[in-house]
Amino acid sequence: MSDTTMNDHSTTNQALLDRGEAALHSIIDGDNGLWIGGRAETGEGEQIDLISPIDGTLLGSLTAASRHQLDTTVTRARTAFDTADWARDAKLRARVLRRLADLVEDDAAEIAYLDAVEAGKVAAGSVDEDVPDVVANLRFAAALISHDDGRYLRSADGWGWVTKVPAGIVAAILPWNYPIAMLGWKVAPALAAGNAMIIKTSEDSTLSALHFACLAAKAGVPDGILNVLTGTGPGIGAAMGLHEDIDVLTFTGSGPVGRSFLESSARSNLKKVSLELGGRAGYIVDADHAGDFTAIAADIAGAAFGTSGQNCTAASRVIYVGADDERFADFRTTLIAATEALTVGDPFDPTTDIGPVINTKARDRITAWVDEAVNQGARIVNTRAEVPDIGTWYPPTVIESVPDDTRLGSGEIFGPVTHLVRCETSETAVSLINDEPYGLASTVWCEDIGWVRWWADRIRVGTLAVNGYSEGTEATPFGGMRQSGFWGRDNGPEALASYQETMTVWVADG
Ligand code: NAD
Repeated sequence: MSDTTMNDHSTTNQALLDRGEAALHSIIDGDNGLWIGGRAETGEGEQIDLISPIDGTLLGSLTAASRHQLDTTVTRARTAFDTADWARDAKLRARVLRRLADLVEDDAAEIAYLDAVEAGKVAAGSVDEDVPDVVANLRFAAALISHDDGRYLRSADGWGWVTKVPAGIVAAILPWNYPIAMLGWKVAPALAAGNAMIIKTSEDSTLSALHFACLAAKAGVPDGILNVLTGTGPGIGAAMGLHEDIDVLTFTGSGPVGRSFLESSARSNLKKVSLELGGRAGYIVDADHAGDFTAIAADIAGAAFGTSGQNCTAASRVIYVGADDERFADFRTTLIAATEALTVGDPFDPTTDIGPVINTKARDRITAWVDEAVNQGARIVNTRAEVPDIGTWYPPTVIESVPDDTRLGSGEIFGPVTHLVRCETSETAVSLINDEPYGLASTVWCEDIGWVRWWADRIRVGTLAVNGYSEGTEATPFGGMRQSGFWGRDNGPEALASYQETMTVWVADG
């Protein structure tokens, strides 16, 4: 595909392109990078250029929020939290969140376009998965708060109740890899719990959040309850960490930045900090209890290379357990074939499986890590797809014999690269997962229920998928053990709890 401009959208959905471009222009043309107090505003901070990873085009520029605008936003959020009915009226919130879910569903095209053009997400995948995930989260959160009975207590000297109350002002600092889905994971439970929110998008993916904010206003979220700021991490992001009037900070991103928020909390107002950090997921193939290698390899290709491997649960290691050499050779060939069958190309083409990586820095880092491993003895085993010269691309890559003391051998690649490892015993495979500092997710393919239990009793990760890669659903908690996370969870009733305080009301008996 070298020399391809990636601009031939003839096979794509024209309506998606038309609606998406209109949404893009409504943000970019007016430099509407902020959503504060229920309306779009222009920032007063530094200029952020939006470069499409598809072909390097400058989509436009947005001016980031200034520190003063952050303070104004927090004040607006606090006022709305204190004075609007939002914090006290769960019925109102459930009604508005359901309406918002409908509006998001209606605008799947706009959202998918914005995430594709800005972050390289495959548009069909956004329409089929990311947007429905946000919709499901909003409806799930609305259902959760429709039945919150609290707890009634009585003793010899009084009576009372224990209830959950909103934490107050929630700051959400988002990554770029699943712009709208990560937003949904934070916004649905935090708003359902009755909080006011300030979202800081990633510099690399700010557009769909701004479109979402507009939909929230249409749905009836009161002015000041949902705010979005475009801004850099070290600028507005760090200032949010240190802000004295933010009660909860929820973050999805890299480990070092996550740790900095724990320090900022200690140095400021002890805001609650919830961190969803990286991963280095293993995909275990328990060959003695696995039948159809073709189905398994296809699942692994999706798990390892979907979103160009820029996924904290991406199967960055395929761990094959089995003693029979011929079966391993068969599996290896099948995995290579599944990888080579993927279509790498234009995110707007409905036949595309894999788009670009997010930016030049990411592509250069992935390239450097793989090159270093190869120079130290690792072998690339598939024929890699040709990728365009322009834009930021890296082909799906299966690699073997990666030395542990290379960056690829110990770090999170966050790109379309998976390391095929063969183990003789199940115990060794368990160690490969549990001895990592990361403990976010892993998958086991195992068709024997007794052995499924064996694996589940030993592997220590936040989400263990069995017989098919999955991060669970809106109803299942998502987050990491060890250094993959810190307090709180996304999704499930657990997410709601992350944005609530527990309060006791005690009435003395006369
Ligand atoms: P990142 O940490 O660089 O950026 C995430 C967010 O933090 C962005 O909004 C960024 O602006 C902000 N930020 C950056 N530097 C900052 C600073 N000094 N102070 C305050 N804020 C700052 O991460 P990323 O590159 O956007 O995302 C990739 C990482 O996120 C990977 O490590 C990946 O595993 C992780 N991730 C984790 C999950 C999860 O749920 N566990 C999901 C997606 C991504």
